[in-house]
Amino acid sequence: MQIITYPHPILRYQCKPVQKIDQGLRNIIDQMFEEMYNGDGVGLAANQVCLPYRLFVLNTSGDRTKTENEYVFINPIIMKKRGSAESEEGCLSFPEIHAPVVRPAEVVIQGVSADGQIQEFHWNGFAAKAVQHETDHLNGITFIDRLSSTLLLDIRESLYELELEFDTNRRLKLIPSDEEIATYIEEMERKYC
Ligand code: ZN
Repeated sequence: MQIITYPHPILRYQCKPVQKIDQGLRNIIDQMFEEMYNGDGVGLAANQVCLPYRLFVLNTSGDRTKTENEYVFINPIIMKKRGSAESEEGCLSFPEIHAPVVRPAEVVIQGVSADGQIQEFHWNGFAAKAVQHETDHLNGITFIDRLSSTLLLDIRESLYELELEFDTNRRLKLIPSDEEIATYIEEMERKYC
């Protein structure tokens, strides 16, 4: 398992609902937490590790010792949104890039836990922003899609560098072709979707 970066095509993928929760899926979830902590992140969506599942992990403290702040959301749905607030966001799939994003300030989010229990939270502040950022990922939307054209212009050069790096890695066959990725996604979907 490895965190993929922009402009990998799976970041645009509409992830599929998870139909089965078993030990294999819980192992995937554990590995996702590990990748998230290794990257110093607070949240990680399945398509960021090239898995086509509607699932993300989150630690609202970003501190791996604070397991009480760990959450798993399988098939998450944002039930309600309210207000609006701007805050700085970054993403493990966009290394070194940060920009202010405007989003609803308050959400009610529902999802299934790793034990298969339905959970619902009413959150504001940082946690509300984080679950919206991660739910966006599962719909193929990244935080740069939420930026104004002026802000996008500010980070254009950094994005271009990531695009160049991606092209180079593809030429070196370090990143599979679109066809190979599509075959892999299909295979992974057969397991849990
Ligand atoms: Zn992200």
